Amino acid sequence: MNEPLLLGGIEAGGTKFLCAVADRNGTILTETRIATTTPAETLGAATAFFRDARRDHGALSAFSVGSFGPLSLNPLAGDYGYITSTPKPGWENVDLLGTLREGVDAPMTLDTDVNCAAVGERLFGSGQGLDSFCYVTIGTGIGVGLLIGGAPHGGANHPEAGHIAVPRAAGDAAFAGICPFHGDCLEGLACGPAMRARWGVPAEQLPADHRAWDIEADYIAALCATLTYVIRPDRIIVGGGVMQPQMYPRVRAALVAKLAGYDASMRTIDMCDYIAAPTAGASAGLTGALALAYRTATRQWPMHWRTAEPFHVNKETADA
Ligand code: ZN
Repeated sequence: MNEPLLLGGIEAGGTKFLCAVADRNGTILTETRIATTTPAETLGAATAFFRDARRDHGALSAFSVGSFGPLSLNPLAGDYGYITSTPKPGWENVDLLGTLREGVDAPMTLDTDVNCAAVGERLFGSGQGLDSFCYVTIGTGIGVGLLIGGAPHGGANHPEAGHIAVPRAAGDAAFAGICPFHGDCLEGLACGPAMRARWGVPAEQLPADHRAWDIEADYIAALCATLTYVIRPDRIIVGGGVMQPQMYPRVRAALVAKLAGYDASMRTIDMCDYIAAPTAGASAGLTGALALAYRTATRQWPMHWRTAEPFHVNKETADA
């Protein structure tokens, strides 16, 4: 007989915090969606939610947060658990874990939103059966989660592959880039707001045959080439609002051109399989956070969780 488990999870995003408490089978017992406004308001509401959950369901066994960053993830660092140098107004140097701890009395872990989404994809999506893959999201920013040897990867702190330097795409020499730290790093050239700054309209409004997509695909392919050379994953899952359907064939073709046949193991690979869309659904990050909590409590992944999308936090607005 398995002892009861109560798992807490948060997917902390730039527009919303999805919070949930689940049992050992991944069944959601209570959940809420909180708008990301000020740290005091948002973290106060999240803390109150978990305090109420404790009253109604009992103490949590473990708790995990998947958050936007950058984050301090080194437990030995003085600012462990903080959101650090984020350009998001008001959220710089915020003690995320410390504040939530006021409502949660359980072992707590923190990882990036993209690493948690990668865990969600491994359980229910395009990462099933794979031990090493990359999860890339291209939207407000460019985030890269790495699942290596079956676990989310982090070193002294989490990687920031969205900010690598990339060669300029043909015909894009004039655009300065918008990264507040680097200007024309990958994110500065290719995130959603960069496309809007370059073309004057949101990416979704550009026609599918606009040359913007070739330039964008060249940058995403540059990231995929780097990930291929550094990690040589089984797959690169690429999603986010900018990854419109017309992007996938362009990225695959640009990647083949960039690799130039150098790595023999890549010559025969099925590019449609290698560069794939995410399929775990809009709550993959929350799923991943709860799975991390499960792993904290049991030292195992919840491979028995069977539902493709077990969470229903405001499904109709989850993509907002
Ligand atoms: Zn940058």
